[in-house]
Amino acid sequence: MISIRGLVFALLIVHSADAFAETALRAEPVADRVWYFRGESGQASAANQGYTSNAGFVLTDRGVLVFDALGTPALARQMLAAIALVTDQPVRRVIVSHYHADHVYGLQVFKAAGAKIWARSEGQIYLGSDLARERLAERRRTLAPWVNADTALLAADRWIELAPGETLSFAMGGTQFRLISAGFAHAPDDLMLYVEPTAVLFAGDLYFNGRLPFVVDGNTRGWLAAIESMRTLGARCIVPGHGAMSCDIAADLNTTADYLGFLRAHMAAAVEELTDFESAYAATDWSRFSSLPTFDAANRRNAYSVYLEMQAEVLDAAAQPQH
Ligand SMILES: [Zn+2]
Repeated sequence: MISIRGLVFALLIVHSADAFAETALRAEPVADRVWYFRGESGQASAANQGYTSNAGFVLTDRGVLVFDALGTPALARQMLAAIALVTDQPVRRVIVSHYHADHVYGLQVFKAAGAKIWARSEGQIYLGSDLARERLAERRRTLAPWVNADTALLAADRWIELAPGETLSFAMGGTQFRLISAGFAHAPDDLMLYVEPTAVLFAGDLYFNGRLPFVVDGNTRGWLAAIESMRTLGARCIVPGHGAMSCDIAADLNTTADYLGFLRAHMAAAVEELTDFESAYAATDWSRFSSLPTFDAANRRNAYSVYLEMQAEVLDAAAQPQH
């Protein structure tokens, strides 16, 4: 006779097998030997099983290079299955765009499959933080059973030391790649991957396609510098960390740079004049941006984040020795 526990377990397996079938990942072509996986829009939830971010892969003559690992081990297994439909070559290396939950919880699957993980050394800041532990506990509740007690935060096999804007070139299986440090822009450890032969840039969360970026916890000064480095790359198409890939790069970069510059100018003026945030927000004419998707969801929090950033910059400047 089957126990209640056994029955629940059996139901869970049936339930998750059904659910996985619904979200079987499909690799979308980007360029010759380059594909990406496009997550759904919105917050991570049981309905989307945490599939809210993008990842990608590049086939070389000797193995597969993966960019980002998605938000659950289950999704990473789906990625491996989709890659296996394209090639029987193994995944040899995974590049981490930055240590945020929706990009790294699949790392353990690639590691178990023999891949080496590369990330910027600043990723260790996140791994050692309370935020990382709290987020994992939260995801074990909200994304069960896809994130569970077996889901771990994984350190990189190679921590890369790069100054802002600095690059690291390497070849794998005859394909040339370039890693580009974006300093501290969206996160302290932002890292982009440029695929030289096809001029495709995997930009992680630094690139937003036709909508307002999410600035909270970022650094707009670093972000604007990263945008300038993206302009000079000569990329043909960019795969963002969220949303569809884009080949209309100049327009998207202009939108983001224009918005970040606007936020900085208006919030800096408010800080200089000792205007409180509420009054400054209410007095700003947002009409240039208010028709863009995600304005309602993002703008107020973005503005507040930049207001705090400008306060810190003004205090920093005031603390410099006077000559
Ligand atoms: Zn992120």
